[in-house]
Amino acid sequence: MQIQDELTSVDDALRAMITLVAAQCTNPAQHTVPLLEGRGRVLAVPVHASIDVPPFANSAVDGYALRSADSSLSSLTVTGRIAAGDAAPATALQAGEAMRLFTGAPLPPGADCVAMQEDVDVEDAVLRLTRVNPASLRSGSNVRPRAQDIASGDVVLDAGQLLQPRHLGLLASIGEHCVTVFERLNVGLLSTGDELVEPGWPLQLGQIYNSNRYLLTSWLQSVGCNVIDYGIIADTPEASINCLERASREADLVISTGGMSVGEEDHIKTAVEQIGELGFWKIRMKPGKPLAFGTLGKHRKIPFLGIPGNPGAAFVSSLVFARPLISWLQGRGVNEASTEKRLQMLRPRPERMPAGFARDKPSIRRDFLRARIEDGRIVPFQNQSSGMLMSACWAEGLAVVPEHESVSEGQLLDFYRLGSFDDS
Ligand code: AMP
Ligand code: MG
Repeated sequence: MQIQDELTSVDDALRAMITLVAAQCTNPAQHTVPLLEGRGRVLAVPVHASIDVPPFANSAVDGYALRSADSSLSSLTVTGRIAAGDAAPATALQAGEAMRLFTGAPLPPGADCVAMQEDVDVEDAVLRLTRVNPASLRSGSNVRPRAQDIASGDVVLDAGQLLQPRHLGLLASIGEHCVTVFERLNVGLLSTGDELVEPGWPLQLGQIYNSNRYLLTSWLQSVGCNVIDYGIIADTPEASINCLERASREADLVISTGGMSVGEEDHIKTAVEQIGELGFWKIRMKPGKPLAFGTLGKHRKIPFLGIPGNPGAAFVSSLVFARPLISWLQGRGVNEASTEKRLQMLRPRPERMPAGFARDKPSIRRDFLRARIEDGRIVPFQNQSSGMLMSACWAEGLAVVPEHESVSEGQLLDFYRLGSFDDS
């Protein structure tokens, strides 16, 4: 791999990252879990329906089943009653007959429509269609036909689908009680920096609390990963190499924060070069210029992503880079025909929103502003320092100012709501 010294654009970096994992990383192993453990997991095989849904024609309303040909008769005889859960009677409805029917109950043979109970009068088993125009009761009125939703044999979900509650409901509707998903991704997490202290301990002079560990561990768990937490790694070449070597054996993906610049105290980049390959680092973005991507290990290669130490930058970089990378490694979109299509699918879709601010001076870096929408316009947090997490907590999303562009009031910009990264 070529190490580039100049800045890499966000799009080139994403594409290079995905191209590399597409070529070098295999899909995760599969296993079968009970349906209720499937939320947030990625389907490993397509699911075919083995039944029709609904499995029988049934009533969409509470009312009376009849033959549409009889709707103009002055009266019909009610000959029976079918509730949801009852089997349909064996004998067919005859001319001039109707049957009391409840929502979800099977249609008796011979009937082809249902009159709503609000539209009829019934006395002593004599039914009159008093409040309905007979012409409006046609074959199929108020009936949910068999297989209206799903026909037996249909593919209901493709491999690569992220399972959300609605998908579990769909799988239950075809009687699936288990689901075959990809194994959870094991993500090794390192927080580098001699200045870091865990919350709960007193701060000495020169120390700060390790916030990235909490930001990233909980975020990784929320997107369905197992976290292997390597804690705080000292700013020495030995500690960095030892930990990365261990992580390359234990994890499926390694993420580190900090230690990625070229200062004497930054050892991650050199450690990666020693035990693996570094693809690129330094991105044309703000916040988050130092970002390293490569592979660890000589035989079994696993991806490595080094994100900046500054918490605000770590936050943005995890959404912009770690999110699509993790989705890919989790097996999301395996069904897509091409790498490019799959990458497109994994990137969140922005809204176009008018800027509520102006900026004269273009920057050479793409700016991801932590911002809110107020009165329909993008309002950035007043302090965009990459060291801060207050901006991320205040923000509703990331507004993107493209590289080399100034911004005028009202100009449309891409706005990514934070929620759009959850299931993208
Ligand atoms: P570095 O990338 O290691 O040069 O770190 C850049 C800045 O981020 C420094 O001010 C660090 O103290 C800070 N920083 C690095 N790691 C963390 C962390 N885990 N939590 C909070 N701040 C951090
Ligand atoms: Mg550091």
